[in-house]
Amino acid sequence: MFCYNCRQELAEGTAVCPACGAAQNQGAARPAVGVGATAPVIPNHLVGAVLATLFCCLPFGIVAIVYASGVNGKIAAGDIAGAEAASKKAATWINVSVICGIIGIILNVILQVAAAAAN
Ligand SMILES: [Zn+2]
Repeated sequence: MFCYNCRQELAEGTAVCPACGAAQNQGAARPAVGVGATAPVIPNHLVGAVLATLFCCLPFGIVAIVYASGVNGKIAAGDIAGAEAASKKAATWINVSVICGIIGIILNVILQVAAAAAN
């Protein structure tokens, strides 16, 4: 997890940030997100997830979209750790989708070459 105030990396379950003294407990102490500069920037990877779905591998791309579309909602709800986790999962599934897409293209080329050779 990260300090919501200064972004210092903290051990999971840390109550008070040793760097800036901000309380890390969920809820009331957390400032409203989207108002000030304290809202952390967490990439939602939504564009990448959509592109991966369209051009690479549909099933894994959809998984990436599900995680990507959850990032902003978690940020809005103050669940920064959850948003970061969803962001990382979206990025992971985009990579899986891209790799599957590349493998699919290679297999397609091999099959077409084999079909051409058979004729
Ligand atoms: Zn801090």
